[in-house]
Amino acid sequence: MEEDSSPAFLVDGMLGTTARKLRILGFDTIYDPKSGDKELVRAALSSRRTLLTSDFELYVYAKSLKGNAILVKGKGEQERLYQVLAKSGVHAVRVDRLLSRCSVCNGELVDTGTEMLNESKVYYCRSCGKRYWRGSHWKKLSALFDAVNIMLTTNRSETA
Ligand SMILES: [Zn+2]
Repeated sequence: MEEDSSPAFLVDGMLGTTARKLRILGFDTIYDPKSGDKELVRAALSSRRTLLTSDFELYVYAKSLKGNAILVKGKGEQERLYQVLAKSGVHAVRVDRLLSRCSVCNGELVDTGTEMLNESKVYYCRSCGKRYWRGSHWKKLSALFDAVNIMLTTNRSETA
């Protein structure tokens, strides 16, 4: 099986929840709710990141400068994540990369070597110190990622 590429993203102010989910999925994701269009595109170009935006004009502007950009138009989180990953050439959610990045600051998560009562490993963020484990919210997240994965693999088998 070929290795999935690992794209890096720069996400505009309207897609904050998508940015957090991408980080939980292990993707290097910068979320920038403050910069204007020109700054966003300049930052995406100079850092070689794919700009994610739901703003058509911003998308066209990025493309006109030969930047990588994806217009994200899905209604729900599942559809948005699917669009981003499929258009980035990602064929499946990598389970081994879940909980490798901080959803708050994009920092790298490190295994603390301790476990919760439910035997989930506990991780901490190297940058901001936030701790993570697979708690009660994880079931919902896990179901979302499974659903995205099914969309990705189904799409792939149709085009293979
Ligand atoms: Zn952090």
